[in-house]
Amino acid sequence: MRAPIHESILKAYSVLETGEPLPFDVAIELACLAGEDVPDLLSLANKVKNRHAMLTDGCLHSCSIINAKSGVCAENCRFCAQSLHNSADVEQYPLLDATHILESAGNVYKEGVRFFGIVTSGYGYRTVNPEFLKIVDSIDQLQQEYPGLHVCASLGVLGEEPVRVLAEHNVAHYNINIQVAPDRYDDLIATTHSLDERLETVRLLRKYGVSVCCGGILGVGETMRERLDFIYALQELDIAVIPLNVLVPIDGTPLQGVETPAVTDIVTTFALCRLAHPRKIIKFAAGRETVMKDFQGLLMLAGANGLLTGGYLTTRGRRVEDDRTLTQQLSGFMGSTDS
Ligand code: SF4
Repeated sequence: MRAPIHESILKAYSVLETGEPLPFDVAIELACLAGEDVPDLLSLANKVKNRHAMLTDGCLHSCSIINAKSGVCAENCRFCAQSLHNSADVEQYPLLDATHILESAGNVYKEGVRFFGIVTSGYGYRTVNPEFLKIVDSIDQLQQEYPGLHVCASLGVLGEEPVRVLAEHNVAHYNINIQVAPDRYDDLIATTHSLDERLETVRLLRKYGVSVCCGGILGVGETMRERLDFIYALQELDIAVIPLNVLVPIDGTPLQGVETPAVTDIVTTFALCRLAHPRKIIKFAAGRETVMKDFQGLLMLAGANGLLTGGYLTTRGRRVEDDRTLTQQLSGFMGSTDS
């Protein structure tokens, strides 16, 4: 007769007791779970989140972004509608002015969102050029206009001087993703830049004390083992926030029409990420509604304690109000646990 709880999950209960990350070899065992064992794994991940990653106000971390500069990107990220190498039908515009950015932030601020990220297409900023200074000016204005708003940025690869400037202007989190499968970045993500360039940006951000938001995208052709390599590579970077996206295959990109990963694979990945990062913010970003659809609530019970609300870069999202309702309904599963 089978044990009520799979023995690999029982091993992972040490994370709940100690708050220490799950050993990699146990993660490999757990990645093979299937069927009725998967909800047991999710339950453990939810308990670990409740005990070790509960935010001080007991709520989910929620943030919104603005695509402040869209399209015309010379990089060739295979998943991205904004790449000039792809033929996706995407809106193109240069950097928005501060007025437009403030208006967008104001809309979510009045809905209670307190983290707001400025995102730009393109490789990034090696130097502090006039466009970069315009972004910094928008950051300053946002902080002045909206008390308590944490202003974040996602501007691609940065040189040391831009990092220093962002640190001086109190950027709350800087997002730069390493995506998934570190050993196959060229094959699965892009060849016009390297993973090392992104890792160097993370190193510089940490050098200047900027909190790092770094995660990736699931469903671009990686194996479960490669997802684990990615999740554990994040451990070495000592970051604050881990955003996980699920690929939304966009027409005109090389990933057009690819099959979406099974829901069980995605929830297992979220749970393993929680067990590997018991105390971090794990944020469910793109793909929550469009790919996970009916199962997005389940994802939020698989260890995530954050979400991106109010729309994504090139795909629609959900209204902040709808996400607030979802968050309230999920709160019944978020009490502390004694087990
Ligand atoms: S993900 Fe960023 S760097 Fe890559 S193609 Fe899209 S906009 Fe360019």
